[in-house]
Amino acid sequence: MKVAFFSTKSYDKEYFSRFNYDNFHELTYFEVPLNHQTASLTVGFEAVCVFVNDIIDDKTIEIISANGIKVVALRCAGFNNVDFKAAKSTNLKVVRVPAYSPESVAEHATALILTLNRKTHKAYNRVREGNFSIENLTGFNLSGKTVGVIGTGLIGASFCKIMLGFGCKVLAYDIQKSADLITKGVQYKNLDDVLIESDVISLHCPLNPETAHIVNAGSISKMKNGVMLINTSRGALINAQDAIEGLKTGKIGYLGIDVYEQEADLFFQDLSESVIQDDVIARLISFPNVLITGHLGFFTKEALEEIATITLNNLSGFESGRELVNEIKS
Ligand code: NAD
Repeated sequence: MKVAFFSTKSYDKEYFSRFNYDNFHELTYFEVPLNHQTASLTVGFEAVCVFVNDIIDDKTIEIISANGIKVVALRCAGFNNVDFKAAKSTNLKVVRVPAYSPESVAEHATALILTLNRKTHKAYNRVREGNFSIENLTGFNLSGKTVGVIGTGLIGASFCKIMLGFGCKVLAYDIQKSADLITKGVQYKNLDDVLIESDVISLHCPLNPETAHIVNAGSISKMKNGVMLINTSRGALINAQDAIEGLKTGKIGYLGIDVYEQEADLFFQDLSESVIQDDVIARLISFPNVLITGHLGFFTKEALEEIATITLNNLSGFESGRELVNEIKS
């Protein structure tokens, strides 16, 4: 198929070229994101391949459908950036990579917890400057702590198992309980109880109207004083302004985020020579107990291999008229 590939980075080209055997699909790489302003680039293509911050809204869909695009191949799991009503009205198929490597994100959430807690990033910098003092680097034992997990799908389940391995008590909230996790020792509770009882809270649910700003002033007020909050899911699960207030009062003791509601204007770019115009992220960066990574939870070689293989299979499946197992029908 002729595929217009948006938001391309060097690693996308590397992995997709490697797994696109015999150049089976004709991939044209664009660095710009897909949105209604760039949608005109899709003339002459049959498919688009997009990532987390491409905007496939009604305006984009109208243009790409008119240009002959038949399928949107998301090279990610989340799909909150697609307007499905508009896609359905133009018979545009949407496929994704539902599970590429849940461990990659679960392990990244764990890295955020351990870094924030044991302050290895600060210790590393100190030692490089000849400062071997350990003053103010006190952490806490994760073993024996209560960890609350919101969303126990593929990534949440992997994260629960890691936390159980650390000797934590794991509480969970999900609209669907996992019998397997219950057998392993995870205790499902209502959302409030998870918020009230947890020392560490990690978000692993999708972004949808029910979960948008699930962390807000009201829910933060229910959390333990000094709670550690981790978000590797989608930025808009947290009201960042409310989190800032929580950090200022000390209610939130640690914040680790791999995603940010306004990340589309920031992440996946080198802005080191620019003045950041987003005052919310600038304030978040200023806290000594906030750790931000730029959406790299998925970024392991195992995950990149799976993403490329499954996305290319999704496109082949569409082209050959096979049942689209990874189609999103919502
Ligand atoms: P999944 O579909 O396997 O699991 C999501 C879970 O959330 C399900 O168990 C579902 O029942 C639950 N859920 C849905 N609505 C809920 C609600 N209102 N309250 C509580 N739970 C609810 O998805 P996954 O593969 O585990 O991925 C989870 C999220 O992680 C994705 O939606 C995506 O946003 C994010 N993600 C981030 C990265 C990254 O690089 N940081 C990579 C992949 C995925």
